[in-house]
Amino acid sequence: MEKDSKPLSFALIGRSGCGKGTQAQLLMKHFGNLFYLSTGGLLRNLAKLDTSAGKRAKEILGNGELIPDFMIIGLWMRELCINLKDDQGILFDGALRRLVEAKQADGFFNFLGRKGNFFPILLDISREEAFDRLTKRRICKSCGRIIPYVGDFKNLEKCDNCGGELSNRQDDKPEAINNRLDYFDTQVIEVLEYYKKDNRLITVNGEQSIEDVFKDIIKAVEEKR
Ligand SMILES: [Zn+2]
Repeated sequence: MEKDSKPLSFALIGRSGCGKGTQAQLLMKHFGNLFYLSTGGLLRNLAKLDTSAGKRAKEILGNGELIPDFMIIGLWMRELCINLKDDQGILFDGALRRLVEAKQADGFFNFLGRKGNFFPILLDISREEAFDRLTKRRICKSCGRIIPYVGDFKNLEKCDNCGGELSNRQDDKPEAINNRLDYFDTQVIEVLEYYKKDNRLITVNGEQSIEDVFKDIIKAVEEKR
């Protein structure tokens, strides 16, 4: 397999609140031609469809039940088969959270001759830090921007986007947050172990500033490629 001849792909993995969305944006900017793939987005689009599977997905999402593996994999696989261009890398945001998913992704990268150019990245924050960030983050009452509970944002008094008033209202109850964090500790951990086995996992301390997290990601990728 020719390294460097194929575009780089990434999967951002980490506990809820670890800053995946923010780092995804920075990676998009840095590498330019990345195909952004959000499993959550694909599922929400599916749930809007007036189809048998769409209706079922809507039901399951509403109950907070788990979407079956084959459906998650089928959705991103279809999306990539139809849309991914040869000169584009992939940025998985919120995907590869189950072992079977990670293995299927490897199969797909092999198929494309891209396995050596795929980098799973753990944005490592502790469970306590994740819980704090999820329960203390705020939302702008005017524009809906979510103000993360990190760094200087903690002291923000007005929305930095529109100047609107900030609300502490939480959509998620502590129980729901704990369920999500439990999922990471039981399911996602298996994915991390899988990538660690052949020394592919890039682990970055996610409790630093946004800039430092990003710097560490780029440094680790450059070292590995
Ligand atoms: Zn705002």
